[in-house]
Amino acid sequence: MKSKKILVLGANGFIGSSLCAHLLAKTDFEVYGVDLATHKLMPCLNHDRFHFQELDLTIHDEAIEYLVKKCDVVLPLVAIATPGVYVTNPLGVFELDFEANLKVVRWCVRYDKRVIFPSTSEVYGMASDAAFDEYNTSCVLGPVDKQRWIYACSKQLMDRIIYAYGFQRDLDYTLFRPFNFIGPKLDDIRNEAGSRVVTQFLHNILQGKPIELVNGGQQTRCFTFIEDGIDCLLKIIENKEHCASRGIFNVGNPNENYSVAQLAHIIVDVVSEFDPKWAANIQIKSVTSDEHYGIAYQDVERRVPVIREAQEKLHWQPKVNLKDAIRITLDYHLNGTDRDAVLLQQNHR
Ligand code: UDP
Repeated sequence: MKSKKILVLGANGFIGSSLCAHLLAKTDFEVYGVDLATHKLMPCLNHDRFHFQELDLTIHDEAIEYLVKKCDVVLPLVAIATPGVYVTNPLGVFELDFEANLKVVRWCVRYDKRVIFPSTSEVYGMASDAAFDEYNTSCVLGPVDKQRWIYACSKQLMDRIIYAYGFQRDLDYTLFRPFNFIGPKLDDIRNEAGSRVVTQFLHNILQGKPIELVNGGQQTRCFTFIEDGIDCLLKIIENKEHCASRGIFNVGNPNENYSVAQLAHIIVDVVSEFDPKWAANIQIKSVTSDEHYGIAYQDVERRVPVIREAQEKLHWQPKVNLKDAIRITLDYHLNGTDRDAVLLQQNHR
């Protein structure tokens, strides 16, 4: 039997790169990867079932439409997903995350392909629920001048469009909602500013700069290790007895719910395992969100997923705690340990 083909748009991203490595190591898929660069994909590049093309989703329509037509399953992972950018380049977020991806969704409808789309935990916004449930929530976004919400709003509208394509045109889709995925290849640690919190803290520590707690750091997040997230995605892709078809899944770790201030202390603890003297010099300070992000920012105070859908339909359970996830991330940045490369070496298929 011929292997199935999967198209990963944004293959060099945080989720895309790890997903490609796991698909090659654990499944028989022919993996078609598209992105603008390949630095996170190094372990995959020479694999005989990996086919990479350097293409830009905002330019190369014809080539990408052809790939959608050729593949069986499509993951459009190209997106800006960094709050620092929502407030500085909101139009860029709309154009890429919504407009460019809508073309891909429509090609999936046209060619009758299964689409697995990255929604986001941001769609729940500032809803007051103790925990966010996919089918019982009133996604609450802030005012228009708080441009942070353009990302959540773009993603939420796309969720609704995909859902409607399923309803009216039989599109086979799954929406998955990552809750603060963290891990080695999250953001570029050399970036001066604007990364997501774990990379930003590690960047500041490596540069000898203080860690900044936005508004005191009492806001909480459930941190989810990338490999747990990928494990869930593989189950969605496998789609045993259509368990994921037309479903919406929170993908998060409700057990690893910490405030940003607690996160800072856990990171200091882990750094001290690597070098106690270094850890002793780390400074932690509080800044206002206006100082850190500018006035177009608004924070989410609490973000906990209900993961019953994923537990019951996909038999998925997150396993890795925050401290271990930070250890693995630091090991990558300090010692260059690339777990995707190790996985592929151990599982050559
Ligand atoms: N944050 C912080 N200091 C930083 C970067 C982020 O206190 O240097 C906070 C931010 O205000 C938010 C949380 O950390 O409350 C998580 O931010 P992130 O950018 O990782 O993503 P979010 O969960 O907000 O989408």
